[in-house]
Amino acid sequence: MEKLKELIKKQGIVVSEQILNVDSFLNHQVDVELMKEIGEEFANYFGGKNITKVVTIESSGIAPAAMTALNLKVPLLTLKKKKPNTMNEEFIQTTVKSFTKGNEYQLTASKKYIKEEDHILFIDDFLANGDSALGAIRLIEEQKAKLEGIGIVIEKSFGPGRSKLEQKGYDIYSLARIKKLETFGTILFCE
Ligand code: 5GP
Repeated sequence: MEKLKELIKKQGIVVSEQILNVDSFLNHQVDVELMKEIGEEFANYFGGKNITKVVTIESSGIAPAAMTALNLKVPLLTLKKKKPNTMNEEFIQTTVKSFTKGNEYQLTASKKYIKEEDHILFIDDFLANGDSALGAIRLIEEQKAKLEGIGIVIEKSFGPGRSKLEQKGYDIYSLARIKKLETFGTILFCE
């Protein structure tokens, strides 16, 4: 997606060879016009798959996932990183290692929102090692729902995430694929 790549080039800050900061339009401040276009793009790509629910992980996945759900006219389910005290019904959890924080968290969902008959589209802001997506997939599969596809806003293609997910046979659509982050600030994209 050209507009996204241009924004990454203009506003992205290379924190290290591993980490990109896009706080100005995705992770802190949100460019809602861009999110609207992202939602349309994902909805166009995955539109033929009879998606019944969009699933994401709090919090940076919510904006692009919400716009995708709006376009597909289906609910959005946000997986929690910790069980809230208000969640009194049956729930499922799986341990995920956070790429940016380095710690582990308990990815949590109420059982009643993921059902066997669901056709799910998973959307996230970044793909790096694939741990977040694989955690979400474990919860979806535990409930015997079908994962129809994975939509990623920014894929760090130098990380192992894509190949781990491809090995499992999933359809992954990334809007920007980064080949390399260079310490002096250059961001190189895959062709
Ligand atoms: P993974 O689980 O694939 O290793 O990492 C994906 C998650 O880590 C994303 O949900 C995102 O929140 C975070 N993440 C990974 N790499 C980056 C990055 O370079 N910049 C930012 N802002 N978040 C990242």
